[in-house]
Amino acid sequence: MKAIVFHEYGGVEKLSYEEVQKPTLGKEEVLIKVKACALNHLDIWARTGLEPKIVSLPHISGSDIAGEVAELGESSSEVSIGQKVMVSPGISDWTCEFCLSGRDNMCGDYKIIGYQVNGGYAEYVNVPRKNLIPLPEKISFDESAAFPLTYLTAWHMLVTKAQIRSGQNILVLAAGSGVGAAAIQISKILGARVITTVGSEWKVKKAKEIGADEVINRKEQDILTEVKRLTDGRGVDVVTEHVGTSTWNSSIRSLAFGGKLVICGATSGYLAETDLRYVYRRHLTIYGTYMGSKSDLLAVLRFLREGKLRPIVDSKFPLEKAAEAQRRMEESQHFGKILLNP
Ligand SMILES: [Zn+2]
Repeated sequence: MKAIVFHEYGGVEKLSYEEVQKPTLGKEEVLIKVKACALNHLDIWARTGLEPKIVSLPHISGSDIAGEVAELGESSSEVSIGQKVMVSPGISDWTCEFCLSGRDNMCGDYKIIGYQVNGGYAEYVNVPRKNLIPLPEKISFDESAAFPLTYLTAWHMLVTKAQIRSGQNILVLAAGSGVGAAAIQISKILGARVITTVGSEWKVKKAKEIGADEVINRKEQDILTEVKRLTDGRGVDVVTEHVGTSTWNSSIRSLAFGGKLVICGATSGYLAETDLRYVYRRHLTIYGTYMGSKSDLLAVLRFLREGKLRPIVDSKFPLEKAAEAQRRMEESQHFGKILLNP
């Protein structure tokens, strides 16, 4: 089969379109013919070698996969050949205390398809049968692939952890990122007011189109000053963070009394300073999150099935143009999800 493989860590030039062995199925696995696979920032971290102990070489990225069941392994009676499926991106052991209490994303053995194991930048991928979610005909492969990782993460942050409510003010960082766009849409469905940030003027209109109430252009405006102005000095109830070093301080200080900061990543850097007085005097809560549980995915999926959530697709590339697609993401030229169609 054809796949995008990297044999060394480095720039996009390391992504090679080549013929590789079709995966052999392990126990309880099925083979998926990939119809669409969405990019995530994780793919760039994998390729640049951020966590070489986790991402082994050679590697095939791709965590957001939609396709058809091509081959069944042992005891896979609940799905049939040709069935249209979405792949839940998290793998866990389903035996530990976290898995058994529905928090499989906290499993000590947790892996992300396309990160710790090979993923969907390929014509075929092998996945555990437990990860399959059958899809109705009306949902396209592209929309399905644009959904799991970011909506799962945003739902886990906003609903499971921060427990957002109608009428609250939410600061969503980076509207154009996958998690940012998902967080805006989820917050709006649940009746919150969304303040978001973008890094270029053309993204202001885009952010409003997907539901943001207020958009801050961080290149021209100071996030904290604008948040204070837009909330009459009160601050926001929840901040969704995945930027890290460059925004941490303003995120903490943007929170109202009793506010909650939920973090799922640190794309601009890991180290940040916190003035602890803000944390205790303002009764703040900081939640660290990583992905979401399968039950989070099933909960947010209801809104996709009902047509109340429509993933934002930025662009589509044929599989062999994966390097071009990743460059688009690295240079922040995108708004929403970038897809590969093998
Ligand atoms: Zn477990």
